Amino acid sequence: MLSEIRQFVERKVIGDSIPSLVRWGKSVPPGLMRRLQAEEFRKVIRYAAARQKFFRHKLGEAGVDPGSVRGPEDLGEIFTTPEDLITLPAEDFLCREPQAVFETTGTSGGPKHVYFSYEELDFAARYQAAALWESGVRPGDRALCTFDAGYWISSWVTFLAAKQIGVFCSAIGKPAPAEVFERLRLYRYNVLLADPTWLVSLSEIAESQGALPMKFIFAAGDRMTSAYRDYVQKVWHAPVILGYGSTEMGGGAGMECRARSGYHLDDYNMLFEILNPDPEGYGELVMTTLSRRTMPLIRYRVRDVARWIPEPCPCGAPLRRISPIRGRRDEMVVMGAGNMHPEIFENVMRGVEGIEENWQVAVRQEGVHDILEFRLQLSNGREPEAVERRVRENLEKRYPEIWANHTCGMYRMAFRFLPPGSLPLGRKPKRLVDERAG
Ligand SMILES: [Zn+2]
Repeated sequence: MLSEIRQFVERKVIGDSIPSLVRWGKSVPPGLMRRLQAEEFRKVIRYAAARQKFFRHKLGEAGVDPGSVRGPEDLGEIFTTPEDLITLPAEDFLCREPQAVFETTGTSGGPKHVYFSYEELDFAARYQAAALWESGVRPGDRALCTFDAGYWISSWVTFLAAKQIGVFCSAIGKPAPAEVFERLRLYRYNVLLADPTWLVSLSEIAESQGALPMKFIFAAGDRMTSAYRDYVQKVWHAPVILGYGSTEMGGGAGMECRARSGYHLDDYNMLFEILNPDPEGYGELVMTTLSRRTMPLIRYRVRDVARWIPEPCPCGAPLRRISPIRGRRDEMVVMGAGNMHPEIFENVMRGVEGIEENWQVAVRQEGVHDILEFRLQLSNGREPEAVERRVRENLEKRYPEIWANHTCGMYRMAFRFLPPGSLPLGRKPKRLVDERAG
């Protein structure tokens, strides 16, 4: 039975055009999808056990027989971590001769190196092409991709994806937005793929000089707050669709559909788990690559925190959905208010007028009490009391359970209004800091 399914999949997935891949992808019953994933998982486990030094060593340490592994739960505490990729030589992970390498910078330590074959890059591009097609990108459109190139993967995979659907594409690295703005008219781009902060800069130019018609805008690579998304959509009169991925995931791992409610994951090529979910279901994403053979990653600790969205999507795709990324596991702060993530405060600050963009929330300790301290810089001569009231209202309205922990005395709140310019934050501002001792 499974080999029949396999033949069916290989014919449909590898042989057919992108539009028929999309049609087929949407017709697979979820139960069959889970069985295919389970079968692919067992295959990659046996493959890596035979060829990958790192995984073989882990299995030996834990005394696990790869032949007995049926699902991730049978691997117990066996994981691959970002630190493993940074500190161990590539040879420990490579299962065959690679043809390409990409890098990604970690939050600590040096770059991680991830190797591929050409075939694997084309294969990853095929699924990105399907996602673009499903979003409405068609031959005749002209795509401009300004994801960072160099050793980053997303620019290259996007270019290969555009090629597979026959769409005009310039993947040009990440030039200054002004340089690109001058060429929008010349090359008649109507699809943009870029990271959120770059899109905001381009949109600022467009707002003052006039925006050209756009069909779609895809954003990935950084977190896009809803304030940024609303602004970009308003300037270009086009929907902004978000993608999720990384170099370790081979580029894209998930994308919003037109319902724009969470990311549909690439269940064909990756098996995701959510580790140690909290009572709301949020936990760390763990990913196993199902189809890559050059450098498969077994139960890779992604460090991003999200939860499943179990309800079926109105778009009808059988691909599982996760929530927007709540934050990095290493940015999570466990305190009296609950498990706090930077995303929570981005939502609380949304719509608060009279403060500068670079605010910060710190968790401090006074005696035995946790203090949630909002550090804000006033602008436009607003009264601090009005700003404070608005922040409290937003927290109460948008996160009633966090507010409930406040009213029952689990933590206290404090507000510090700082002179402008006293919170110099970098490109990726640290919104939430834990300053408690030990
Ligand atoms: Zn959907």
